[in-house]
Amino acid sequence: MQRIGYIGLGIMGRPMARNLLKAGFQLTVWNRTAEKSAELAEAGATVVESPAEVARAVEAVCINVTDTPDVEQVIFGRRGILESNSGESADLLVIDHSTISPSATRQFAERLAERRIAMLDAPVSGGDIGAQRGQLSIMVGGDEAVFERCRPTLEVNAGQLTHVGPIGSGQLTKAANQVLCAVHMMALCEAMMLARAQGLDLSAMLQVTGAGAGGSWALSNLGPKIAAGDIEPGFMIDLILKDLEIVRDEARQCGLPMPGLDLAAAMFRAAAKQGLGRKGTHALCRVYEELAGIRFAPSP
Ligand code: NAP
Repeated sequence: MQRIGYIGLGIMGRPMARNLLKAGFQLTVWNRTAEKSAELAEAGATVVESPAEVARAVEAVCINVTDTPDVEQVIFGRRGILESNSGESADLLVIDHSTISPSATRQFAERLAERRIAMLDAPVSGGDIGAQRGQLSIMVGGDEAVFERCRPTLEVNAGQLTHVGPIGSGQLTKAANQVLCAVHMMALCEAMMLARAQGLDLSAMLQVTGAGAGGSWALSNLGPKIAAGDIEPGFMIDLILKDLEIVRDEARQCGLPMPGLDLAAAMFRAAAKQGLGRKGTHALCRVYEELAGIRFAPSP
């Protein structure tokens, strides 16, 4: 496959699309807010006016938009991907990198299959930094033969690329990943709060714990941002709240108690109420600052 489309050029989509261009793929892009396509146009991508036009120009379309209704809209909505296809061609593949509902994903794939379009769910983890470096962890659900066809495209942005099962399995794996991220963010804030309150040097604390059994991606990448007072996203609090609703739905369906997740969701909701919804998930530190009456970073 040489001709790839990209729909959704946000914090994640833009660097992932750029990596595809750099790797030599012929790229056609569309973004709802047109200005965000300019940088990719300069880098050599063809910018078009709708998802349908993207789909007409390519062999595989990557989607990277916010939530389940947004994926539905770019595929099935007016001037969506489906409008490009008469049902006679079996060539088009859809690769969805967004984080959305696993059950909706299965329904979307069924509806696409009726028009002979194959779909993979391929959500990612590793944040904006992983996207910029092309070092994301990509968890893929769908037909294995389709996965193998898409492997060279997916590998461009992957540090770890794993086919995890049938359609929807990528989103289920991502839901598990979000439990880890959400609950761990509380642990990171609490560990750093203790260190700060006791007068430890935060950077020394992060360096040594990051190399031990308490280490994590969040600690190494977001711990220093908390210590520096930098709460820009990254991955926004509004988005993790969306993901935790997806997790809750799945847990409810299996009758699972998830007390850690419930607490983390309440903490992130408190952060959103403080006006931090569009800040990074590590802005949870601001809720802890309020609770404990301490500051992680010296005032500017
Ligand atoms: P973002 O910066 O807010 O970008 C969202 C993109 O989706 C924008 O291009 C936006 O278009 C587009 N969009 C949203 N609704 C749309 C609609 N109805 N129709 C057409 N386009 C629409 O978000 P992001 O951080 O890149 O996240 C994208 C996806 O990746 C989300 O599902 C998120 O959960 C997931 N994710 C994010 C991270 C991260 O660290 N940021 C990590 C892993 C996974 P406009 O430009 O017009 O707003």
